[in-house]
Amino acid sequence: MLDLNFDNAFVRDLPGDPDTSVGVRQVDGAAWSEVRPTPVRAPRVLAYSAEMMARLVLDEEDARTRQFADVFGGNSLLAGMQPYAANYGGHQFGHWAGQLGDGRAISLGEVVTGAGERWELQLKGAGPTPYSRSADGRAVLRSSIREFLCSEAMYHLGVPTTRALCLVATGEQVVRDMFYDGHPAPEPGAIVCRVAPSFLRFGSFELPASRGDTGLLRQLVDFCIGRDFPELEGSGEGLYAAWFTEICRRTAVMVAHWMRVGFVHGVLNTDNMSILGLTIDYGPYGWIDNFDPGWTPNTTDARRKRYRFGQQPAVAYWNLGRLAGALAPLFKEPSALQAGLQAYVDAYNQADRDNTVHKLGLAGYREGDSALMQSLQELLADAEVDMTLFFRALSDCDADALNEAMDNAAFIDAFYDADKRVASAAAFREWLKRYSVRLRGGLNREERRRTMHAANPRYVLRNYLAQQAIDRATRGDIEGVNELLEVMRRPYEDQPGREQFAARRPDWARDKAGCSMLSCSS
Ligand code: AMP
Ligand code: MG
Repeated sequence: MLDLNFDNAFVRDLPGDPDTSVGVRQVDGAAWSEVRPTPVRAPRVLAYSAEMMARLVLDEEDARTRQFADVFGGNSLLAGMQPYAANYGGHQFGHWAGQLGDGRAISLGEVVTGAGERWELQLKGAGPTPYSRSADGRAVLRSSIREFLCSEAMYHLGVPTTRALCLVATGEQVVRDMFYDGHPAPEPGAIVCRVAPSFLRFGSFELPASRGDTGLLRQLVDFCIGRDFPELEGSGEGLYAAWFTEICRRTAVMVAHWMRVGFVHGVLNTDNMSILGLTIDYGPYGWIDNFDPGWTPNTTDARRKRYRFGQQPAVAYWNLGRLAGALAPLFKEPSALQAGLQAYVDAYNQADRDNTVHKLGLAGYREGDSALMQSLQELLADAEVDMTLFFRALSDCDADALNEAMDNAAFIDAFYDADKRVASAAAFREWLKRYSVRLRGGLNREERRRTMHAANPRYVLRNYLAQQAIDRATRGDIEGVNELLEVMRRPYEDQPGREQFAARRPDWARDKAGCSMLSCSS
């Protein structure tokens, strides 16, 4: 028997929607609507995260029970669960979009563990809710695998993120027009159970603010501070200011991690920004192969590239500005909110300097180091060099061997185009010379390697790797997913025998759907 202890603070302390029907509607004056998962034909557990099972004090054996498949497939509830869909709005692609809400996410309840941790369990793809608008509330296997794998990969990379407990096949088909080109087709359906201390988003606060409902706005803020930020001190406006500043700081730290590991979220709308500063809502995200600040994985964003890799720090700032605007009615003085936004800038700049120090293995930050990093990034972009392979090759190259680095197999391997490698070799040698001068008198060999290995992963969830696992799973073989999950548990360690998972994107994957660009269809 699954044994979990629930304390459902969200539904207990915040106003719910009196209407309990499933019909799509505008929900005023309420933070959530009661809704049950819609049962599925044949729920089957495909994969689970051993770490997340342990955090919830579940036994791995539990994942093999009928009851586990039933609960996380949405066919039954455990005692203490009170399922609901949350109400929120958001700015999408720069425009206020009004009410959005959990259209296909259903929270089951908040588990409180013996260690005092609070984990909200949420099924994604468990059927329609009052917020489903014209969609079906379901999710396809490919997007569920992507969310499941990436949540856990990000966790192991040390990037703040929501987690994933398990991946369940529904035994039902879902119809999707994958390329938005008028060719809808059935695909296997699946449900991910994702987990976080809170799924509140910037948009959770924007929605009541947009409706002039300052009462509900204040209630949400007080609730969020009380439940999710118990360490904050003070009261009234001072407490609200400290809270907003902390959100800004955490957001800066999160985005700096994305830039460090080469993660591109793809849809940084304000409804996809966690109030806890966690990476949330894994949709058409992607990983940088060749270093390109202008790259976006999202086909919907291909023209304007609002959410391109290099734009993420600025977009997060813009999103915090929307949150500040929503919170303004709670402040007599806008200066507190401005101070919070400045804290974002300061925290981001600090984290960016730390990234430079760690990625380059420096003893500390000095004037000129950011320029050194920037000139490297320009070279990487111009010469089409793999970000992950290059930084790892640099980490493995001793300071006194840098002048020969360009002839070294690990460096050669990082280039996608041999002509560009030859053409840029002199510029790279020049840069490596500057770098080796900078390293003089710094960390010793072992310290430098350790620092760089901890900041420059060997393994990231490259788009083509995820797609290969998806293709296998679609043919009925889930082992590719488990294998990737296993590799991504230790992304900073060299794993002998698993070199293929560190390989640069193969040529066939360059323009293949799922491996380079993704639509929002999921
Ligand atoms: P996203 O782009 O995934 O953040 O989704 C934006 C909004 O659309 C959210 O309110 C989602 O809940 C909703 N949504 C996305 N896909 C579906 C779906 N298949 N069924 C119902 N609602 C959906
Ligand atoms: Mg979303």
